[in-house]
Amino acid sequence: MSLFKLGKVHVPHRKNTAEAIPVRMPAPAQVSISMLHHIGAPATPVVKPGDKVYVGTLVGEAAGYVSSPVHSSVSGTVKKIEKTLVSAGKEIDSVVIESDGEMTPDPDLRVPEITDFASFSAAVRASGLVGLGGAGFPTSVKLDAIGKGIIKRLVLNGAECEPYITSDTRTMVEKSDLLREGVELLCRFCDFEEVVFGIEKNKPEAIAKLKDVFADMPKVRICPMPSTYPQGGEKILIYNTTGLVVPEGKLPADVGVIVMNVTSLAFLASYVKTGMPLVEKVITVDGSAIASPANVIAPIGTSLGEVIEFVGGTSCEIGKILLGGPMMGVAVWTDAHPVLKTTNAITVLSERDAAPPKSTACIHCGRCVSACPMGLQPTYFARALNISDKREMCERLEDEKIGLCIECGCCSFVCPAKRPLVENNRLAKAAVREYKTSTAAAGKKGGDK
Ligand code: SF4
Ligand code: SF4
Repeated sequence: MSLFKLGKVHVPHRKNTAEAIPVRMPAPAQVSISMLHHIGAPATPVVKPGDKVYVGTLVGEAAGYVSSPVHSSVSGTVKKIEKTLVSAGKEIDSVVIESDGEMTPDPDLRVPEITDFASFSAAVRASGLVGLGGAGFPTSVKLDAIGKGIIKRLVLNGAECEPYITSDTRTMVEKSDLLREGVELLCRFCDFEEVVFGIEKNKPEAIAKLKDVFADMPKVRICPMPSTYPQGGEKILIYNTTGLVVPEGKLPADVGVIVMNVTSLAFLASYVKTGMPLVEKVITVDGSAIASPANVIAPIGTSLGEVIEFVGGTSCEIGKILLGGPMMGVAVWTDAHPVLKTTNAITVLSERDAAPPKSTACIHCGRCVSACPMGLQPTYFARALNISDKREMCERLEDEKIGLCIECGCCSFVCPAKRPLVENNRLAKAAVREYKTSTAAAGKKGGDK
């Protein structure tokens, strides 16, 4: 039996905004631009209070290989640099900018000169692009696999399988020309055997549009997939579009594949024509507490509260605000939290929908096991977490392949006893990480003696 399954959990789609053309917000009075939007090292601020900035001005320099530069999303004046708590749970520098309301582009922005793979890679890095589907891995790091000559397939993620979210759908419908340019751009640097768009069947307009746009490119295949969750999970998408299995602990590049989100690709195609770095996001604003769901184009660093107000506010008391969708979104503690590069949705739930379900004892029905797209046994993780000896607990969790859990939440979703399975898995993964870090540090100390 294959490790991967098609992803067969049917979550309610609630794509209320599938036909909502994104509306651009007016310039906010102030933005708070975090120096961390992704996995890896935060950027280092390169501006100081009082500096004049424009849309696209560099405000934070990448601080390492797995890091990404950050740019101003408004024109105005730097007010302060302060530590803010971001959804990753870390205190990170943020550059606070008072907008002049003009949204003047930086006059020094230039279209990047791309002559070979090295200049292309440098341009991708300078653009500040990180995976816009939510994971946020710096795109330049991912695309470096092309330079190593190991990539055979490009898989474009248009699955958008979470309830509510439609920002990628709008990209595929409205920016299919940019997607074509993006594919042609990447094909300049890699002789892909195949380029595949994985799109759920509940987006017929996007599928039809892309089939039309790529009709004369035989190496591009549009792959409609069942509308089941989580088709957009990287390893699941690769399996369901190419049949390839990414082994545990390996990356897609190890099986010759690069996965890119469709909105990331459209941005890249736009960047090489304009030189305007990543400064704004298309965001789906929806959820049971939102009065009028909409798609919005918001400057990065705008507060979530302002975005919610822009679409008409809420229809009831807010129970929870999520960055992302209801299955994998991260809850934030305040609507002052800024829009990040990875914010593709703001899901606002009513108090009733946000209330944690009452959990009862496991009835050993096995539904969580059947639902897991990675073939895991979530109940084992919960049991292993109760082992008091840390070493034994971590060994058991690793034996049960906790590292393969993609935190999709399918197990929790189907559990009739409402067990907090995905929450347990996150705790288990954190416990393994912490144990490994502490044993490595202890080993180093011993070696240093
Ligand atoms: S959260 Fe992890 S264990 Fe649960 S269904 Fe998803 S991959 Fe499987
Ligand atoms: S789905 Fe829930 S009740 Fe059923 S086996 Fe899994 S944890 Fe137990």
